Amino acid sequence: MIYLKSPSEIEIIRSNGAILKECFEIAGKLIRVGVKRVEIDRAIEERILKRGGKPAFKGFHGFPAATCISINEEVVHGIPDDRVLEEGQIVGIDVGVYRDGYYADAARTFPVGEVSPQVKKLLKVTREALEKGIAKAVVGNNLTDISHAVESYVTGHGFSVVKTLVGHGIGQQMHEQPQVPNFGPPAQGPVLEEGLVIAIEPMVNIGGSDVLTLDDGWTVVTADRKLSAHFEDTVAVTKNGPAILTR
Ligand code: MG
Repeated sequence: MIYLKSPSEIEIIRSNGAILKECFEIAGKLIRVGVKRVEIDRAIEERILKRGGKPAFKGFHGFPAATCISINEEVVHGIPDDRVLEEGQIVGIDVGVYRDGYYADAARTFPVGEVSPQVKKLLKVTREALEKGIAKAVVGNNLTDISHAVESYVTGHGFSVVKTLVGHGIGQQMHEQPQVPNFGPPAQGPVLEEGLVIAIEPMVNIGGSDVLTLDDGWTVVTADRKLSAHFEDTVAVTKNGPAILTR
């Protein structure tokens, strides 16, 4: 069941997205060599609470923190802990906010200090793959037009997309229908309608697309331990085109 949202519901999600934007500004200022992951998590949680929101991930299926912080080969769902950031790493920060009955969800990947040209390219391609997907979030397109745009851009640059984790509808639940894969042929799946709100979230690997979950039960890493990046925005399909609610 796909729940389409009214313009007023979309505005609530957008106002929650504004909190996420602040969270990423905070993260961007904090991220440097020597900072502990947990310090970033605490600063973000503080800001969400200050804005009257609830960190959506905390307690979700038992997740222990407000944010997912995933370093290097960690794809998603990394648990913020006392480990410190090191020069040349990349740090994925995924945050969800719940307020006024609705969720918003977004992720950014940041470099720590100077990263290699290949890693710079990984960040750029992942960010741009998200843009390619968003551009297809248009009334009358099919859902997998988004999927295909993401995957073809990524593979065209020599990287791979994660296939076992996907984007999702979002609204009164953090994960709603439809699933939004980052791969597959175009022109399939539901026709996009005004009021559809989805989280589009390419996870892009330098090496192969296979991933596995560590013994902590959460952290997803690339099977070949090569680097992975993640960018995500919550996007509404509107009659005026895609509206990005988390920037
Ligand atoms: Mg998500």
